[in-house]
Amino acid sequence: MSSERPIDIAIAGGGLAGGLIALALRARRPELRVVVIESGANAGGNHIWSCFEHDVALADRWLIEPLIVHGWGEHAVRFPSFERNLPGGYASLSSERLDAALRDALPPGDLLLGARVTGLMPTCVTLADGRTLEAGGVVDCRGPGDLGALDLGWQKFVGMSMKTDAPHGLTHPVIMDATVDQSEGYRFVYVLPLSASELFIEDTYYTAGPELAVDALKARIADYAAAQGWTSTPGDRIETGVLPVCMGGDFERYWRASSRGVAKAGLRGGFFHAMTGYSLPDAVRVALHLAAMPHLSGAALHERTLAMARAHWRGQAYYRLLATMLFRAAEPAERWRILARFYRLDPKLIGRFYAGRSSLIDKLRVLIGRPPVPIGRAIQALGRASGAPIT
Ligand SMILES: Cc1cc2nc3c(=O)[nH]c(=O)nc-3n(C[C@H](O)[C@H](O)[C@H](O)COP(=O)(O)OP(=O)(O)OC[C@H]3O[C@@H](n4cnc5c(N)ncnc54)[C@H](O)[C@@H]3O)c2cc1C
Repeated sequence: MSSERPIDIAIAGGGLAGGLIALALRARRPELRVVVIESGANAGGNHIWSCFEHDVALADRWLIEPLIVHGWGEHAVRFPSFERNLPGGYASLSSERLDAALRDALPPGDLLLGARVTGLMPTCVTLADGRTLEAGGVVDCRGPGDLGALDLGWQKFVGMSMKTDAPHGLTHPVIMDATVDQSEGYRFVYVLPLSASELFIEDTYYTAGPELAVDALKARIADYAAAQGWTSTPGDRIETGVLPVCMGGDFERYWRASSRGVAKAGLRGGFFHAMTGYSLPDAVRVALHLAAMPHLSGAALHERTLAMARAHWRGQAYYRLLATMLFRAAEPAERWRILARFYRLDPKLIGRFYAGRSSLIDKLRVLIGRPPVPIGRAIQALGRASGAPIT
């Protein structure tokens, strides 16, 4: 420990959510002592986290701006039936930047690395080496908890950086190239141009089970690069992801399944987009919300994060419905059509969808038409998803 000062806030897990809470607290509440406990050798793990410009409110962007390593003014999608460039900005943050920002923001010794948390209470953390840390409040940010209470499908991917022998010519991200084989379910390739001769290529697919065939996906990435006419070799970075896509379940049971009475954020708190598994916009929102709380006791943090998580769960009902339609209403080989149709809609509606802020009109607009369902069923389904009939 850097000092014998009492710890005001202990954050278990120095990943995206825990890291952003620590940075927000250090910036907004420098008088507080914040300690982050992370089991890995670095904070942040091994990630490129990306988001659309409007996913994060303008007033909140200062928190992630120092973490951005790449930014683009537009992005594209490709489907068998059409291709479209969309005007919104897109940015990528790296775990290396998050790690550096935390090392910078926290006094030496307040970022505990290689330290595994084995027990959490609202004001106490137990570590695997037997130490216990008392704190005014504790937040559990250790990534996904026991997901058994949720009805899930999976978005799975392998992403690799690839160095091209010649300039690849891509000027903006292709966030969905679904012109690839669709026989196993919805599949797309995601491409970020990191520099004139470096790409980050991710092969992603939506399936019912969480198993991930890493070698097969690596081979597909190489095949994809070759099919685009890029002669390339793998770079330094490889990421794998198995993200929950949520169709329903018992939120209260999920929340209670780990560290009872302790505040939770990030995936541990259920703060992710039901359709994409992405959590960056919610992580920013929660971090800044907690940093603005007048009292940060363990009980107050728990009460507030639980209230926010419940509201988030209710607000995600529509996205759970869409996830259900994607996994259960459409035949695997036809699922891409739902997304293709979605991507023909107004770019502003698409932006609100990813930010989790779809209006009622947006929601109807996405559901109505052909495919996926007729208007009467769409309205009924929306009513069920919102818990109230829509008149
Ligand atoms: C490869 C990948 C790419 C992704 N890309 C995006 C993206 O582009 N945009 C987006 O919005 N979302 C993305 N996601 C989804 C999601 O936003 C991330 O998983 C995000 O990192 C979740 O944040 P978190 O803080 O909940 O968990 P994490 O960032 O995983 O952080 C949890 C941390 O807790 C630590 N930990 C776990 N157990 C213990 C313990 N017992 N003691 C101490 N520390 C512990 C872990 O080591 C980890 O560092 C991606 C996910 C993956 C896997």
